[in-house]
Amino acid sequence: MNEFAEQPGLPGKVWFVGAGPGDPELITVKGQALLARAGAVLFAGSLVSEAVTRWAPEHCEIRDSKDMTLEEMSAWLQWQASRHATVVRLQTGDPSLYGALIELIQPLDQAGISIGVVPGVSSAMASAAAATESLTLPEVTQTVILTRVEGRTPMPEGESLAALASHHSTLCIFLSITLLGKVCRELRAAGWAEDAPIVVVQKASWPGEEKVVRGTIATIQALCREQQIHSQAMIIASPTLGARHWDQLIRSKLYDPAFTHRFRKASAIPDNGVSVPFADQITLKAE
Ligand code: SAH
Repeated sequence: MNEFAEQPGLPGKVWFVGAGPGDPELITVKGQALLARAGAVLFAGSLVSEAVTRWAPEHCEIRDSKDMTLEEMSAWLQWQASRHATVVRLQTGDPSLYGALIELIQPLDQAGISIGVVPGVSSAMASAAAATESLTLPEVTQTVILTRVEGRTPMPEGESLAALASHHSTLCIFLSITLLGKVCRELRAAGWAEDAPIVVVQKASWPGEEKVVRGTIATIQALCREQQIHSQAMIIASPTLGARHWDQLIRSKLYDPAFTHRFRKASAIPDNGVSVPFADQITLKAE
């Protein structure tokens, strides 16, 4: 039996599936398979519509949730679960981030309907990919903070952007492009320099629509205004940005020829950080 087959005659199962950031091909294989056998799909507005139309079967009942309240969505999912073995709630990116996941699951739990969650490629990851950036670099930062600035949703105590930015690690800032001025002010308040790099990615992974804007705290607002970026954008602030063009990179220990780990023995003498091309393919004798 296939691992997500439901038992006939029993109420259906509601799957919360990450649709990925926009490109329909960035849904997971498991998410695509669930969509392909779904009797009903509730999807989140224009953000994921193409994934639905591309992968859901013709007879599937498809409903856009953009004009629905949480109660209506929950009632719809429960009703569909009484009629279909597989019901899919398609969420943008990964369902665990800013997706009202728990609010939707609690009423299903109360109704005794089983649920499953399938992760998705978050827009934070798709934005890093679009800009060819690494969010972590050895000895630069090893930490990524996924956050937003305070808008209508208040930030909990201790989570102001200025407080989080004081770590000088990577910040992936969701839901905040209309508050870019505030983002910059809070970064400054945390001691980030005017020329600290910022990348804004709009519609990461959307075929033909993706925009990558590179600037600094001093310039990014004007650049985004010029490019008319007002929605569906990720703000990445990080000391790693632009590393593709750096002359001096501190190498990752994992691939360092002088570093032994579980899967590979050191094959070169430590070289004080100076990289030796193909050093792990030559055998050096220790003196
Ligand atoms: N669960 C989603 C986030 C939903 S909140 C995820 O994991 O990506 C919506 C916010 O996500 C938007 O305001 C924007 O900041 C970001 N976002 C969603 N899709 C995006 C995309 N394709 N490119 C850039 N940012 C995106």
